[in-house]
Amino acid sequence: MSSSQTTQSARPALVDAVPKDLFIGGSWQQATSGKTFDVLDPATGEVLCAVADASPEDGRRALDAAVAAQPAMAALSPRQRADILTRAFDLLHQRIDDLAALMTAEMGKPLAEARGEIVYAAEFLRHFAGEAVRIDGGFQVSPAGDARFLITKQPVGVALLITPWNFPMAMGTRKLGPAIAAGCASVIKPAPQTPLSMLALIDILREAGLPDGGVNLITCTDAGGVLEPMIRSGLARKLSFTGSTKVGRILLEQCAEKVLRTSMELGGNAPFLVFDDADLDEAVTGAVQAKMRNMGEACTAANRIYVQSGVIDEFGRRLAARMAELTVGPGTGDGVQVGPLIDAAALTKVTELVQDAVDRGASVLTGGVPLGGRGYFYPPTVLSGVPREARMSDEEIFGPVAPLTPFEDEDDAVALANDTEFGLVSYVFTNDLRRALRMAERIESGMVGLNQGVVSNPAAPFGGVKQSGLGREGGAIGIDEFLETKYIGIAMPK
Ligand code: ADP
Repeated sequence: MSSSQTTQSARPALVDAVPKDLFIGGSWQQATSGKTFDVLDPATGEVLCAVADASPEDGRRALDAAVAAQPAMAALSPRQRADILTRAFDLLHQRIDDLAALMTAEMGKPLAEARGEIVYAAEFLRHFAGEAVRIDGGFQVSPAGDARFLITKQPVGVALLITPWNFPMAMGTRKLGPAIAAGCASVIKPAPQTPLSMLALIDILREAGLPDGGVNLITCTDAGGVLEPMIRSGLARKLSFTGSTKVGRILLEQCAEKVLRTSMELGGNAPFLVFDDADLDEAVTGAVQAKMRNMGEACTAANRIYVQSGVIDEFGRRLAARMAELTVGPGTGDGVQVGPLIDAAALTKVTELVQDAVDRGASVLTGGVPLGGRGYFYPPTVLSGVPREARMSDEEIFGPVAPLTPFEDEDDAVALANDTEFGLVSYVFTNDLRRALRMAERIESGMVGLNQGVVSNPAAPFGGVKQSGLGREGGAIGIDEFLETKYIGIAMPK
């Protein structure tokens, strides 16, 4: 590993320019308490700025504004909804430099990755602009021939959208895109670590022509205290959440009371399988991508790397060499490929998980010790011989640590891969087509990467099985999460 000490570029202009208040009913408003909370730069641990800290009362005001705007949102024609999204797509591209710098400042990822995320985030808007004008229905003759069925789709109603800190822009557009496309008014609550990207997006959506109240934004530190009464009020008809399985369970219980529709993108524990017939260079490249995108802070990150015993030593050598070459430093540094972790708690957790694996017999091939100094930096790390009992076999690492474990044959690989409560994504590297398909069918996950280390794509249905969640985001079905199907029966006596 090399580290970049390049001095940080000047404070991004958008950090100061972006509004810091709550956005309710089309206007920026301070929290009623006047309270704010600090947003930190993970590369330094220093305060970037402060944003409004909403109270439950503010949450209710935002919800009421969405309820008031719901008829106007539903009345927009599909083309009008698509045009708002298309204009917002263009604006994201026009402002990509400023938005990427803002994201790096609040989240830490290298500038190149932040730019990549803006492109990815914008793509959700373009994708759902296309879906808005393709919401379909049906017409059917009843089996007895005595009635006709009209099948149509309508917006589900007001949606609550809760997003995590790891993809501050894309997790927002992945929810706002289909909500707007379907004609749903919403309240969005970004994570307290990274609220600035969503605050910037609100200004863009306004400029793109979003009606007042169509999207409302609250930032807060007491997410549970603010959101629970909003959910339990029953005024919203939909909750879309991306975050931990622990919080997802709490929200599902709260949604049960008034039977809200839910989409839940929860935790992952992705297995990454390398067979001895794979192209090892491709597999190593795939592993670096699947592990190191976003410093490993992704629910799709390869969390358990299983390699067939005949090639594991060679694979480990090559992977460790590639990981050791990555440049670690502040996201703004020249050539930096690995930024800081999000906060001190994340650094502590990664450090503890590695120590636990080593205590249980794993060997460190590279990395393995926090970098120290300012910011929350952890080096790219490869561990070999990680035993099943290690905590990282069950817990999301959410950091740049690749644990290697050998397997013998397909049955062994399937058993290891499925030995988890999660089922978001899995990766399989093999050059045998039939083996690839057998594995893809036998592994319990909502998504499978075959000979590729990245599966996320706005045009594909993203989501998990088991305790990784409910529903799918993106793809042609992503908009259905925000639509209700209505059937109209028409009597046609013969
Ligand atoms: P992480 O551990 O990655 O921060 P969380 O599941 O804790 O993931 O957080 C994801 C999002 O859910 C964040 O926006 C957070 O503020 C929000 N959140 C956390 N707890 C609750 C809760 N009890 N009710 C509603 N939202 C919550």
